[in-house]
Amino acid sequence: MKVTDHIKKSKGKTLFSFEIIPPKKGKNIQELYDNIDPLMEFKPPFIDVTTSREEYVYIEKDGLLDRKITRMRPGTVGICAAIKHKYDVDTVPHVLCGGFTKEETEYLLVDCHYLGLDNVMALRGDAMSHQKYFQPTKGGHSYASNLVEQIKNLNTGKFLHEVMEVDTKPNFCIGVAGYPEKHIEAPSLKTDLKRLKEKVDAGADYIVTQMFFNNADYFAFVDKVKEIGIDVPIIPGIKPIATKQHLQLLPQVFKIDLPEELISEVEKCKNNAEVRQVGVEWCIEQSKELLKAGAPVLHYYSMGKSDNIKKIAEAIF
Ligand SMILES: Cc1cc2nc3c(=O)[nH]c(=O)nc-3n(C[C@H](O)[C@H](O)[C@H](O)COP(=O)(O)OP(=O)(O)OC[C@H]3O[C@@H](n4cnc5c(N)ncnc54)[C@H](O)[C@@H]3O)c2cc1C
Repeated sequence: MKVTDHIKKSKGKTLFSFEIIPPKKGKNIQELYDNIDPLMEFKPPFIDVTTSREEYVYIEKDGLLDRKITRMRPGTVGICAAIKHKYDVDTVPHVLCGGFTKEETEYLLVDCHYLGLDNVMALRGDAMSHQKYFQPTKGGHSYASNLVEQIKNLNTGKFLHEVMEVDTKPNFCIGVAGYPEKHIEAPSLKTDLKRLKEKVDAGADYIVTQMFFNNADYFAFVDKVKEIGIDVPIIPGIKPIATKQHLQLLPQVFKIDLPEELISEVEKCKNNAEVRQVGVEWCIEQSKELLKAGAPVLHYYSMGKSDNIKKIAEAIF
């Protein structure tokens, strides 16, 4: 079922969902299940599974370093299918522009259709770790809006090179990313919002936000998004802070601001167990306010560990 249909069906009741990351290559899927199991009692209508970009690894051979390209966390679509069938829950694979040609994306979408996945999250992806800026993959898309167009075309039976009479058309519900604090590369929030509108005009059905720690940023974002005529659900993405290192890491990686009050609470902690508890408490307060404001879904970034998300869900759902 489509994410947007889950939202319609809930008739204003805020839903619970979360995002997971595939295990590292060679690791067992069981750890993922062990972290999903405790969250299923909160009845998530859908679970997102991220896709990671390829990266360079250096392998020593005859005293020389050989550079190879690899994907450290493959298996997004397989994991989506496995979870869907194990738990009878909708899963949303993240589909990236970066690292994929349009043809590879078409094959991936065809797989998703055969596997009965009704939703996809269309993303550009970040630059590879050795690159300063995102560079489109040869034969791939430059922006998420182009990817949305490709998915939308497939929904009408238009493949990349053929328009075909098809027996069953996919009918993917398409999610895209939104940035309450602006995407790092956008010259201004206004320009970024214009780009977001292009994604929705191209066919995106809902928006999931980047993590934020101050709800005022989300509320202001929702107002601005509506002002420019975007009328699709805007799902807040939230993450409980979990380690002291996150104070530097989260702003650096996700280009987001942390509130002073949260920073000082984390700085007072003697160890990461205490930080994890501060993160849970902050996230519960955020969730309560978002729930009261009628957010359609509270979407938690679990980063593969569910103990803190479970505590939050227990307090909220
Ligand atoms: C909810 C969520 C989930 C995510 N999941 C993943 C994941 O699984 N894997 C992963 O690698 N990354 C993921 N990301 C990170 C995402 O890939 C990066 O933030 C990436 O840098 C931008 O992706 P996007 O889809 O927002 O790109 P776009 O919407 O394409 O925007 C990228 C930048 O280009 C600008 N832009 C857009 N269109 C144009 C245009 N026509 N001309 C000029 N500028 C333009 C935008 O303003 C923005 O600055 C996720 C992010 C979010 C918020």
